[in-house]
Amino acid sequence: MTCERCNGLMVREQICDLQGRSNSLCVDGYRCLLCGDLVDALILENRRRTTASAELFLLTSPRMPRLVAA
Ligand SMILES: [Zn+2]
Repeated sequence: MTCERCNGLMVREQICDLQGRSNSLCVDGYRCLLCGDLVDALILENRRRTTASAELFLLTSPRMPRLVAA
């Protein structure tokens, strides 16, 4: 994975919310080694939703029949 800002290498990292918005919430994310940009899973998901909603629909729709059957 590469950084969208500087094309640098991004490494997987646990990102913890230390500002107390929610009690010690840690999420998997990526940090750029060059510019320090942080991307967490929620941001990635939001980007996918806005830029490729049709693609996301194709990815999620195969799961729906199983949910209905259960
Ligand atoms: Zn970067």
